[in-house]
Amino acid sequence: MELLRIIGIYPETISDGYGLRYAIYFAGCAHRCPGCHNPESHDPRRGEPLTVERAETICAAIAANPILDGVTLSGGDPLLQPEAMAAFLRLVKERTGQNVWCYTGYTLEECLADPARRECLRWIDTLVDGRYVEALRDLSLDFRGSSNQRIIDVGALHLFG
Ligand code: SF4
Repeated sequence: MELLRIIGIYPETISDGYGLRYAIYFAGCAHRCPGCHNPESHDPRRGEPLTVERAETICAAIAANPILDGVTLSGGDPLLQPEAMAAFLRLVKERTGQNVWCYTGYTLEECLADPARRECLRWIDTLVDGRYVEALRDLSLDFRGSSNQRIIDVGALHLFG
């Protein structure tokens, strides 16, 4: 399994979901949405590898910050390499117990249809899904992206028994 790669971390941000969040931006996206606001994130070879040691360091930093409201995964597309992401998500949940948001270009339905992405949903609390549509940008009601993206309470879907 290839290592995930990180192109940026914001230890405290109010721009990536509800409240104050630890945001991690992952390299790599295959969607190529016209008008993408972050094309430099598309190459999965960019950034620094997420080694086991780095993952533990990140989790320790999250767990040590008592004022965080949660963790946000963005990119790129965090679900481009879903097997590796599921393992990281599980580690974040086990080490920090934090609420997790994930911004992805895949729709919820596409995630459910793919076993590895479905497994990622097990560890995600809120999914902001769907490809970016530049023409809808001015209508957007969410934190960023376009108005066709949905903010989905994954836990409320009761996908896992
Ligand atoms: S999913 Fe996001 S990062 Fe990927 S091409 Fe679309 S807007 Fe850009």
